[in-house]
Amino acid sequence: MKTAVMWVRRDFRFQDNTALYHALSYCREERARLIFVFQLNPSLFKNSSGLRHEHFAGTVLHFHERLKKLGTELAVFVGDHEKAFRKFLKSEQGISALFFNGDETGFGKARDVETTQMLQAEGIQVFQYQDAFLHGAEEIKKSDSAVYKVFTPYYKKWRAEKFTKPYHIVFDELKQAVKRPAERPDKGLQQLEKYAGSAMEKWEFGEKAARKQLLHFVQHKLNDYESSRDYPAEDGTSRISRFLKTGMLSPRTVIAAVLQEEDLGSSKETFMKELAWRDFYHSILVHFPSISDKEFSENYQSLDWNKNEQQFEQWAQGKTGFPIIDAAMRQLNEEGWMHNRMRMLTASFLTKDYLIDWRLGEAYFARQLVDYEASSNIGGWQWAASVGTDAVPYFRVFNPVTQSKKFDRDGEYIKKYVPELKQVPAALIHEPWKMSEQEQEKAGIVIGRDYPVPEINHAVQRKRAIDFFKA
Ligand SMILES: Cc1cc2nc3c(=O)[nH]c(=O)nc-3n(C[C@H](O)[C@H](O)[C@H](O)COP(=O)(O)OP(=O)(O)OC[C@H]3O[C@@H](n4cnc5c(N)ncnc54)[C@H](O)[C@@H]3O)c2cc1C
Repeated sequence: MKTAVMWVRRDFRFQDNTALYHALSYCREERARLIFVFQLNPSLFKNSSGLRHEHFAGTVLHFHERLKKLGTELAVFVGDHEKAFRKFLKSEQGISALFFNGDETGFGKARDVETTQMLQAEGIQVFQYQDAFLHGAEEIKKSDSAVYKVFTPYYKKWRAEKFTKPYHIVFDELKQAVKRPAERPDKGLQQLEKYAGSAMEKWEFGEKAARKQLLHFVQHKLNDYESSRDYPAEDGTSRISRFLKTGMLSPRTVIAAVLQEEDLGSSKETFMKELAWRDFYHSILVHFPSISDKEFSENYQSLDWNKNEQQFEQWAQGKTGFPIIDAAMRQLNEEGWMHNRMRMLTASFLTKDYLIDWRLGEAYFARQLVDYEASSNIGGWQWAASVGTDAVPYFRVFNPVTQSKKFDRDGEYIKKYVPELKQVPAALIHEPWKMSEQEQEKAGIVIGRDYPVPEINHAVQRKRAIDFFKA
């Protein structure tokens, strides 16, 4: 009997999974059975202290538990792709086809090409699909096939295209098709458990949780998305990014849920635009891979960034003395997620107020963000640092105090993540260094002892940043 293999990587769900849909069709036509395999590459978990790896490992373990309920297990093979797949091929008889949702960029793309060649050389058919993005990097291009470098025309084209409908998986059919892998995955599971740490207590995993979050947003929040999405204390955004990143949720399912709702006017359009930014940045990284460590804009490739490690640590630990920045960085360190406006603000602060290299900030976010998506993160950082494609102009420097007053007027967000300032009245909370001794006493805090005084003056730094970019 033939065996088909579903190689899961960042698509930990059954429903609306492109490769799985095709794998099941294959099983139906060829009377084949299906095995799920995961290649665990320990070198990708180096520096595994961050929340991102914890969350990812938790996702894989949860998926394994779901497979157990189907009467099978996830075959976990440890090693680089060559070593892991050699071990797998040795342990399993009769493999006739491999299905997977491929990567279009970076290390993942090279791995996919090499693995495909290796399996084809063994006489195995390989089927690869684009699944993680609504539109892959080759799908939205200008009429002369050139790549869009500016978002607005990209969006116009993106919006005019049809979206692929969600792929419906018949659960009973899947249950009938699966079979147990020949080798027990104990070693790989133990390693994943080590990486996952306390992930199971921190987050809810799985496609059920993802769909619940999506429905909650679409039914109760989407209507007000445009007006509430900029306020970090509000539950105004979808919070689906970690589900999209790990594939617990498919982007096709998201867009279908949005389009099902009656016309919601500009809120719906704004939300769809955000989904398009995700595809846009993906396309940019695929076509300009050097941006992963080089500025998109050649003008800014040799800037002499500040290398002050102490200031970097202040920023990373949420101890700059600017409450809104500190609240945001502490949110990231506690939850592995940060509100979009706060990502813009903290990235701008690091690169313009501290003039520290965007690459360091990008790498820090990459360790901590459970929704870490290289393309969106690099895109977001280069945007904020004014060195990317379609970036904010260098002379537009976010003011952490006015932004704080505007988007967290009552200091609710600040108080949640910076408890030292809990008693400080809203009128003073955005600039606590200006509090008089009496005001500090009343709020039960000594600025400089219980909460830092900022090391920098924003107005001075703003001017320095503009000169820095001009030069
Ligand atoms: C410096 C910086 C770094 C970022 N790093 C990442 C990252 O690593 N991973 C990531 O998914 N997003 C990143 N973003 C984009 C954005 O901040 C997050 O997608 C968003 O905050 C996730 O929360 P949400 O799901 O509630 O978003 P919503 O506002 O509900 O948006 C819905 C979805 O649209 C997509 N999206 C929204 N805004 C953007 C955007 N500006 N760029 C690309 N996609 C977007 C995301 O998939 C998001 O889940 C970054 C932004 C900045 C400024």
